[in-house]
Amino acid sequence: MNPIGIVFDPECLLHDTGPGHAESSARLQCLLNMLGAHDVQALSPTILHGRSATEAEVLRVHSPAHWKRLKATAGYNVRLDNDTVASPRSFDAALRSAGCTLAAVEAVVAGEVRSAFAFTRPPGHHAEPDKPMGFCLFNNVAIAARHARATLGMQRIAIVDFDVHHGNGTQNTFYHDPYVLYVSTHQRPLYPGTGAATELGEGLGRGRTINIPLRGGHGDAEFDAIYGSVVARILERFRPDLIIVSAGFDIAAEDPLGSMEVSSDGFARIAAHLVAAAEMTCGGRIVFALEGGYSLMALQDGVFACLEAMAGVVQVGEPRGSLATLPLGDAVQYLDLYREFFPI
Ligand SMILES: [Zn+2]
Repeated sequence: MNPIGIVFDPECLLHDTGPGHAESSARLQCLLNMLGAHDVQALSPTILHGRSATEAEVLRVHSPAHWKRLKATAGYNVRLDNDTVASPRSFDAALRSAGCTLAAVEAVVAGEVRSAFAFTRPPGHHAEPDKPMGFCLFNNVAIAARHARATLGMQRIAIVDFDVHHGNGTQNTFYHDPYVLYVSTHQRPLYPGTGAATELGEGLGRGRTINIPLRGGHGDAEFDAIYGSVVARILERFRPDLIIVSAGFDIAAEDPLGSMEVSSDGFARIAAHLVAAAEMTCGGRIVFALEGGYSLMALQDGVFACLEAMAGVVQVGEPRGSLATLPLGDAVQYLDLYREFFPI
């Protein structure tokens, strides 16, 4: 089995979104409860402690005004937008959430573990450089990608986002950046409304944003085919030094916010394809960071499926046949757009 790491910080529980909010501390608590379970123990994960992201690390992605605005929420309950709130401890929790992702990347790059899963909360991929948004305060994966490039010797980073929502904040952070590839599958139309296939990056970043918008109803077969062929081939062509995954479990069939039909077997296959791509392109260096996922049962099952794939318990081959014969669902109509940049 491959040595895997799990990073968490109990302070992430202290981000209190109030009664009835989908993004509750129960999400992280249910993952922490799982750590003692026999089947997780059987994977022999190394438990790594998170840390706080520093101001300098956050400012690699976010504006000073964004930092100041969130810092000022410490000690208060503040509504940041329609569905994003800060509680008295949220600023600290958000720094820890970003810090868990940083610690996961550091452990993987240092070779302490082959891959790592950061149990991050609050999530990050909607947070824009200059504003919190959509349950997200700081953009955890964006901060981690910039950190890996700035200090860990990683040149080319691929961020893969399978959350049901489009990661507008991540896309915008790297929209002009040729060194950070952002690949997202997401339901469309759905919040936040961005993520059309024609959004491909600009300037030197053109072709470094790949959006695969899907209508609701796509399930295991389509996600298996899309990740095993389209996403895997794009990653092979891009040749990243590190893969960071925005792992959103709101594509689960049971999820109350999305309309996808992915089962725990589907999550295992998505993760196994990404792990295989990391093995092929970057020495296996891959970090999963939690984004959404609002059915607690599906979240637990999905995260466990990813851990199994990271450990190498689940392995999948590349789907056979030409792209034209695979069940790619809505993705099939965008292949020619991607081929302008990647010969898939
Ligand atoms: Zn989501």
